[in-house]
Amino acid sequence: MPELPEVETTRRALERRLDGVAIRHVAQHRADLRVPLPAALPRRLAGRRIAALRRRAKYILADLDDAHSLILHLGMSGRLVFDGPGLGAHEHLTFSFADGTTLRLHDPRRFGLVDLQPTAALAAHPWFRHLGLEPLDPGFDGTALAGALAGKTAALKVALMDQRVVVGVGNIYASEALHRAKLSPRRRAGWLKPAQAERLARALRAVLAEAIDAGGSSLRDYVQASGELGNFQRHFRVYDRAGEPCVCGRAEVRRIVQVGRATFYCPGCQR
Ligand SMILES: [Zn+2]
Repeated sequence: MPELPEVETTRRALERRLDGVAIRHVAQHRADLRVPLPAALPRRLAGRRIAALRRRAKYILADLDDAHSLILHLGMSGRLVFDGPGLGAHEHLTFSFADGTTLRLHDPRRFGLVDLQPTAALAAHPWFRHLGLEPLDPGFDGTALAGALAGKTAALKVALMDQRVVVGVGNIYASEALHRAKLSPRRRAGWLKPAQAERLARALRAVLAEAIDAGGSSLRDYVQASGELGNFQRHFRVYDRAGEPCVCGRAEVRRIVQVGRATFYCPGCQR
């Protein structure tokens, strides 16, 4: 599943190519993905110019010049591919732009989402209104994180993956950030000291920023907008390394299961 770094990488690729560019034509090849596509979508998008490309959690938002925003979520297996030949049966939307660029939305498992909503109403929309802190926002720090975690009795790793607390921290990045912050995934989320919360906020930002620099982690079906695979997985310190010695030299990486998801951590340096 594309995680936040992959989505941000995709957003930046889209921004480089499409900021200020007008949509000439949209071909729609099916009526729904996870939810029905907006009525008359091709007609409503034709001729609109892309005024800004933003991201909220794992949603890509293309603000259009008619005060509406095109909302894209890549779901489990969605990807956006520029130019090149058609992608066959799993290509659901094809955007043609005034500068000759083509962008294809490909999503074999169809858990993705496409919507069109008034830009001014996005924050209050059901897709967005429950979402928590944005870890790459300038205001994200230990104080903000501790505030969002206050009172939570869930395990820290489970709470980090709760989108109502902080958005876009998937299974890989939660394990990696906790390792860097030297915090056990099993400790209670609501009981962090200020210094620990600051360490964790910094670790989350660092892990996500490095992943974005590396182009996203691309575990299975994700391919960047450029069509190339990212390579962040080379840098994992604990994720998928059960039984290997931790860099601290004190213990081997252990795999546990929390709420049905695999967690990787080092009992030697994470407390
Ligand atoms: Zn260790």
